[in-house]
Amino acid sequence: MAGKKLGFDTLKVRAGYDSSEHNYAVAVPIYQTASYDLGSVERGEKLFGMEEAGYLYTRIGNPTVNVLEQRLASLDHGTGAVAVASGMAAVTYALLNLAEGGGRIVTTPRLYGGTFDAIKHLFPKFGIHVDFVEDSDDPESFRRAIGPDTKAVLIESISNPNATVLDIEAIAAVAHDNGLPLVVDNTFGTPYLFDSFAHGVDIIIYSATKAIGGHGTTLGGVIVENGEFDWSNGKFPHFEQPQYLLREQSTGRERSILEVFPEAPFTTRVRLSYLAYFGASLSPFDAFLLLQGIETLSERIAKQVSNALRIVDYLQNNDKVSWVSHPAAAGNPYKALAEKYFPKGAGSIFSFGFKGNEEQLKAFLNAVELFSYHANVGDARSLIINSPKTTHGELNAEEQALSGITPETIRLSIGLEDAEDLIDDLEQAFAKAFIGSLV
Ligand SMILES: *Cc1c(COP(=O)(O)O)cnc(C)c1O
Repeated sequence: MAGKKLGFDTLKVRAGYDSSEHNYAVAVPIYQTASYDLGSVERGEKLFGMEEAGYLYTRIGNPTVNVLEQRLASLDHGTGAVAVASGMAAVTYALLNLAEGGGRIVTTPRLYGGTFDAIKHLFPKFGIHVDFVEDSDDPESFRRAIGPDTKAVLIESISNPNATVLDIEAIAAVAHDNGLPLVVDNTFGTPYLFDSFAHGVDIIIYSATKAIGGHGTTLGGVIVENGEFDWSNGKFPHFEQPQYLLREQSTGRERSILEVFPEAPFTTRVRLSYLAYFGASLSPFDAFLLLQGIETLSERIAKQVSNALRIVDYLQNNDKVSWVSHPAAAGNPYKALAEKYFPKGAGSIFSFGFKGNEEQLKAFLNAVELFSYHANVGDARSLIINSPKTTHGELNAEEQALSGITPETIRLSIGLEDAEDLIDDLEQAFAKAFIGSLV
């Protein structure tokens, strides 16, 4: 098999793990340990001097967590990955690693509610500011928002809750023209639906809590890089700075992260700075659960996408629905972009407009029996939620309008049930919501 390029489905159950290095255990063992024996004084010196690779302390690295990191790097054809305790930790560490010291981030308002709120209200308290583009659908709008202190462009591969698709390659070109990396939160795309690095993305962020884990049991986040971005272009002095921690043991000469880790400087820097000192580490047991999820990633996502298409079809032929926002819906403006970037389908998370008053909308949500009413998308179980009041409830009216979230918006995340049963559930809930009315 040596030298053969393995397919996605093989990698998702095999990559990053060699049983001969783990007592021939077939399943990935859970290394439930905080620390590691240094072995001898000589070995300890080499480990701490980074002359020998090995584990020191689970906050910075753990063999179970490492398999998860290697597996995701492999699925995305990347050169490095770092796993952290949640998707928000991944977003935060990635953005701090880019813009620390007062940089700015250019982004779109079409973001996960938590990310939007963090970069708008919390990051500025740490000196990092955000510039929102005026028109997310126009790559030139991204160019106009870039200034001398901009350190990155951030987008989501498929947006939440309306499943819009931006012109990712065109936005990457704008970022690269300005010496900036394109950072994509690919939580909704997953490595199965979207091949980020093939489309100009430089840094990928995942909330592994969602479709990667897929079973709603475990929080986690991952950052992946492909080692191609030029961090020595003058905009990122913190990557070029010689550090005492990285000194050459024989001479004492201090070296930069770029010099010591040229293949994966971004994720290594997240590990050695933010993970080491801010400490949002992923637990080995949680890494194990996320690995279990990845083993069925393709099968789950493919079924969720096909289920979603059935439900899109049902909703767009329903007179109690004013619109359906999924690239597969008739007349959707993102169809062409979705076909280009998501040839296997644009995911199973989307929204629709409920044609009824607020009371009826409430009655509808209370009437569903199979769909669960909760926020964790990408779960094996289907969910329904009124985004404007919940997942995006922290956005004020103006921000919601900017993000394309209208009061009648209902978001669905389609799971692994029988599509027929899901449709029947929606049907009976619509009937209950509109009892005695003539909509
Ligand atoms: C959920 C989510 C996050 C945050 O992830 P957590 O694991 O909940 O911290 C970030 N981005 C997107 C797109 C998400 O859906």
